[in-house]
Amino acid sequence: MRTKAAVVRETGRLTIEEVDLAPPKQGEVLVRMHSAGVCHSDLHTLRGELRAQPPLVLGHEGAGVVEAVGSGVSNCEPGDRVVVNWLPACESCQTCLGGRHNLCERLARTTFRALLADGTTRLATADGMPLKHFLSAATMAEHAVVAEASIVPIPDGVSFDVAAVIGCAVATGVGAVINTAKAVPGVPAAVIGCGGVGLSALLGCKLAGCNPVIAVDVLDSKLDFARSLGADVGLNISGEDKPARALRALTDVGIEYAFDSVGSASTILLSLSAVRPGGTATIVGLHAAKELVGIPAGALVLQNKRLLGSFAGSIRPRLDLPKLLGLYLGGRLPLDGLITKRYPLEALPQAFEDMEAGHIARGVLALT
Ligand SMILES: [Zn+2]
Ligand SMILES: [Zn+2]
Repeated sequence: MRTKAAVVRETGRLTIEEVDLAPPKQGEVLVRMHSAGVCHSDLHTLRGELRAQPPLVLGHEGAGVVEAVGSGVSNCEPGDRVVVNWLPACESCQTCLGGRHNLCERLARTTFRALLADGTTRLATADGMPLKHFLSAATMAEHAVVAEASIVPIPDGVSFDVAAVIGCAVATGVGAVINTAKAVPGVPAAVIGCGGVGLSALLGCKLAGCNPVIAVDVLDSKLDFARSLGADVGLNISGEDKPARALRALTDVGIEYAFDSVGSASTILLSLSAVRPGGTATIVGLHAAKELVGIPAGALVLQNKRLLGSFAGSIRPRLDLPKLLGLYLGGRLPLDGLITKRYPLEALPQAFEDMEAGHIARGVLALT
């Protein structure tokens, strides 16, 4: 079939064009996409900064309606409303059996190389060039073929927009707090960087009962989003010589948890120095992914701090995404406030611009 998609034919070149999409094979599902979240990972991929290389179709968080299923599919049927998640864990490798679905051994061979779970693709340009599926999802399109393992049903009462962002930003941010750091109530927490993932970590801190919850950024517009989502304090560190000291000065007892959604050398150091002795710094962002970062090792040991990495919120998608959807329905995760703008597919370049400028908390593409 033909469908419209956000295509990266070569690094740095984004086009919205009609592409060919082959029908779902065994264990695969065809989804009519309604909503797709706009994430930094898509922009990094357009710029050639991640492992997945073009030619490919962008998008890795999304929601829509099942239109057809291949043979052997048992967890959904045509007409079902579903989340497409970008972590199609095999649920049978040693790592999955150990409960670490976010690190499933199949992902390195397939998902991170922008292939479907069977290692192939169903997409091609109208002139016949094969296209890969970013993170096994390729949700920035009117239709997507994905593995059954990527599918999570959406309960009634959850919009496609909310369902779309649950699969990436929300899972990554809330998961870092609940699954990775296992935050406990009543202690101060700081979130560094207030984009989609950082704001989700902030919601996770509120859910965990941390108090106060401090939002840190270099843009006032992002701190405003943080306050509207429940941050007790906002700290702009753009003019701060000693941001860790400024952060520590905000509480009497010290910060127990820091969540770094940026992951640059400076924010990793800030997270580690901001937490009190015995505190936990959890690194979620990937800006310094290819750098060596020096840390004060003596203070780490002498102050008994914990420095944790959190990939995709340590989630087990088919277990944890339904929980997050339930928390939203129960009023415990106010995600409607996270989505501040909707764009047509053609306006994706504008959505990327707005995201980088801090004009939006989370943007979504309205695909239907
Ligand atoms: Zn993402
Ligand atoms: Zn696995």
